[in-house]
Amino acid sequence: MDTDVEVLIAGAGPTGLLLACELGLAGVRAAVAERLPRRSGQSKALNLQPRTAEVLDCRGWLAPLLDRSLTLLPAGHFAGLPLDYAALDSPFPHQVGIPQARVEEFLEDQLARYDVPVLRGRELTSFRQDAEAVTATLRTRDGTEHTCRARYLVGADGGRSTVRRLLGTPFPGRDGRIGMAVADVELAPAGDGSGGPGETWQLPDLAPDPAGVAFLLPLGDGVHRLTFGGPEQQNADRDSPVTDDEVRGALARCPGPRRELRRVRWASRFTDASRQAERYAEGRVLLAGDAAHIHAPAGGQGLNLGMQDAFNLGWKLAATLRGRAPDGLLATYHAERHPVGARVLANTRAQVVLTLPDPDAMVVRDLLADLLTEPQANRRVAAMIAGTDIRYPMPGAPDHPLLGTRVPGIRLPAGRGALLADAASKAAATAEPWADRVDRPGGAPVADEGEALLVRPDGHVCWAGRDDDSQGLHAALTRWFTGSP
Ligand SMILES: Cc1cc2nc3c(=O)[nH]c(=O)nc-3n(C[C@H](O)[C@H](O)[C@H](O)COP(=O)(O)OP(=O)(O)OC[C@H]3O[C@@H](n4cnc5c(N)ncnc54)[C@H](O)[C@@H]3O)c2cc1C
Repeated sequence: MDTDVEVLIAGAGPTGLLLACELGLAGVRAAVAERLPRRSGQSKALNLQPRTAEVLDCRGWLAPLLDRSLTLLPAGHFAGLPLDYAALDSPFPHQVGIPQARVEEFLEDQLARYDVPVLRGRELTSFRQDAEAVTATLRTRDGTEHTCRARYLVGADGGRSTVRRLLGTPFPGRDGRIGMAVADVELAPAGDGSGGPGETWQLPDLAPDPAGVAFLLPLGDGVHRLTFGGPEQQNADRDSPVTDDEVRGALARCPGPRRELRRVRWASRFTDASRQAERYAEGRVLLAGDAAHIHAPAGGQGLNLGMQDAFNLGWKLAATLRGRAPDGLLATYHAERHPVGARVLANTRAQVVLTLPDPDAMVVRDLLADLLTEPQANRRVAAMIAGTDIRYPMPGAPDHPLLGTRVPGIRLPAGRGALLADAASKAAATAEPWADRVDRPGGAPVADEGEALLVRPDGHVCWAGRDDDSQGLHAALTRWFTGSP
């Protein structure tokens, strides 16, 4: 069939760009249409959670991002209550402090290697889908319209997604109830020459305070991220500009010596609106990232959730386009990622409640703070925020403690699946006919003696069993990597 591209992605945010990298790696003809004529350089998110770090490392993309990072923080937080990430079973038990813009820049640079274009200044304004393809209209700034025909369209076009709206997918949830603001500010050096507050990364103090919250994070080159909220932000119109006076007032509320504002680079308001698309896929159109879910930025999860959506979706789209996907593979995208998104919405709502200056909420907060000093409670909540406890359902596979979990530290740079088993085992021989799509990585973490693990291209175990169970493994290879080649 004649199409311009196999996959058109609307939106060059972190979700769209990672998806494009995954598709490019798999040799899929893809393009990204981005409304903005050039990168804004602005960053809402500032962190990669451990699971996102694992995902990037799986393809060999983490090391260059670490080179561009500001810091590694061996902790996360739940409503400002510290979570010790050392307890995680991850090779990356820390948050990577890195502005979103640097992640996007790196991913876009990768795309050049795969010949996947980012079409800047092209806004997707409409589309229609038929049995074979989607035809989208892309409008340039001067009003010129181009059509692009693609086998699939992915809406990675953010919280106010045009794709979602045109699709008519219900987006149930609720509007924001709290109003806050962020500003990237240039500050005069602290008077005492110490560098002053906000010169090292610390977890935010989100203890409820009727005057509001305000905290600083250093972004390098004298720029700081100021996040704040109080009665003024609460009552402000969501789309009204953040004033310098508001920023000065928030700076005065930051702990430590007073810092002088030199310049506001950019500022924006945000809320705790919480909504999730009812369906992540309708025919040939899929939603990912903020287009599929919005929530308060509590705990630093939104970018991470979106990038992990992309990682789940990319290989499934590629396999479908190459005719290597069993029926229903693409449907597992919604089945697996919708519950993960719902869980993040739930935990962010809980976090917001725990930061409200409500005496009853404070009692719950104190109770939780106490509970989190227990190693088991810390581990559990840390794994939830870090994204390392995600376990996808694997219908039809025999139960096993590792089934559906991710293999920490696995490297799958070619984007193929993997069999982890002894080279001399029956399992290795069984998987031989799938050698063009299932690797046997050397140096990868191996299964327990006598066992074999079949791992999908996204690092999740889709079959685990005895390494002489050829029938079970054969069925799983067929299930995930299509019938006998
Ligand atoms: C104040 C704040 C702080 C945050 N902090 C964190 C944090 O610390 N950690 C974290 O993980 N997350 C954080 N987030 C959330 C995170 O920034 C988002 O979840 C993330 O940007 C989502 O990425 P995305 O690619 O899905 O969407 P976006 O980043 O919104 O990208 C969508 C892209 O689509 C483009 N676009 C829109 N419409 C169209 C169209 N019709 N056609 C073509 N292009 C279009 C847009 O220009 C944009 O480039 C924060 C959010 C806020 C508001």
